[in-house]
Amino acid sequence: MRIIVAGGDGFCGWPTALYLSKQGHEVSIVDNLVRRKIDDELRSNSVTPIATLEERVAKWKELTGKEIKTFVGDLNHYDFLAEVFKQTEPDAFVHFAEQRSAPYSMIDREHAVYTQSNNVIGNLNVLYAIKEFAPECHLIKLGTMGEYGTPNIDIEEGYLEIEHNGRKDKLPYPKQPGSFYHLSKVHDSHNIMFACKIWGIRATDLNQGVVYGLHTDETEMDPILANRLDYDGVYGTALNRFIIQAATGHDLTVYGTGGQTRAFLNIKDTVRCVEIAAENPADKGEFRVFNQFTEYFSVQDLAEKVQKVAGETGLETEVSHIDNPRVELEQHYYHAVNTKLRDLGLEPNLLTDEVIKGILTAALNHKDRVIKENVLPSISWK
Ligand code: NAD
Repeated sequence: MRIIVAGGDGFCGWPTALYLSKQGHEVSIVDNLVRRKIDDELRSNSVTPIATLEERVAKWKELTGKEIKTFVGDLNHYDFLAEVFKQTEPDAFVHFAEQRSAPYSMIDREHAVYTQSNNVIGNLNVLYAIKEFAPECHLIKLGTMGEYGTPNIDIEEGYLEIEHNGRKDKLPYPKQPGSFYHLSKVHDSHNIMFACKIWGIRATDLNQGVVYGLHTDETEMDPILANRLDYDGVYGTALNRFIIQAATGHDLTVYGTGGQTRAFLNIKDTVRCVEIAAENPADKGEFRVFNQFTEYFSVQDLAEKVQKVAGETGLETEVSHIDNPRVELEQHYYHAVNTKLRDLGLEPNLLTDEVIKGILTAALNHKDRVIKENVLPSISWK
């Protein structure tokens, strides 16, 4: 298949592009490299040194003989996007290319406006480009489990059967997201659903859990292919952040009581889920939703797991509780359905001690790069 991976220079997109290329697909990366600029803005970095996109794809070609084309540009520039569609004629468009940090979107008005305009308008442009240039192309869009929030009932995969005043319907599952970033994903989902209905576009919304991990078989082939590992209070996700704290002798800082429960998956499963979606496209006009996660944990569970593995490696750490910068429930019901990807063949890579140890080892190898002041949260929701 000819597959575009938009956001292919990022944490999820880069390993996905490599994996799909290895599987024999003709992969093109579209990315405006804004994530690297945001590192400069935040005076932060990836713990792992990351090569430029040009160096990355050149190394991949050298090692495998496979070419990944790159298009450096912004989804918000429609002329650029139109040209990419004309040149690549994609069968699938994998859309990772959004501002994905909840704290970043909550910094101030400018960052909220940037997040929503970047994400919502970029996605709308993709929908128009599919309609105009590749109507058969399957949109595989990264949404998030955070779109649902933490309702006091089971979370279904996209839709909920409802009986109201004696009548029944299957309706989009109610969304109660917790940041302007998560809201941008909800707006995207609504736009995609509408485009599927009116234009017959085929789309899969992958409501992804929080991704942890770093390596895939492909990124481990050479240091130039290494994936980024975010650890700061803005882009670092909980498990990765705790591991960096353990590696640098910092307390593992849990926000509030730590009872916040979220859905998680390994980066190795992210790449496989995208492949599964691509190989099993949605029907024409279908807006399909998969909940893409394998396990859930509370934040406290994660901190304790990291503390245990770090202890076995000779790193003594304390779990401490700090004021929660977010506005969220700290004790709540959480149960979400995730059978659709499993039914299509996903074999989960679960969060074992071995997996934590692997990420910890990578963190220890590069711990001199950690800017310690960046790890604690600096952005408040209020
Ligand atoms: P990332 O920031 O590492 O990567 C996103 C990439 O998209 C970056 O390389 C960035 O330069 C690019 N980009 C952003 N806006 C763009 C635009 N307008 N035009 C072109 N390129 C643009 O993020 P990630 O962690 O890889 O996340 C990828 C996707 O998966 C996001 O949509 C995110 O919401 C979703 N997701 C991520 C997680 C997670 O834990 N990382 C969890 C759930 C969902």
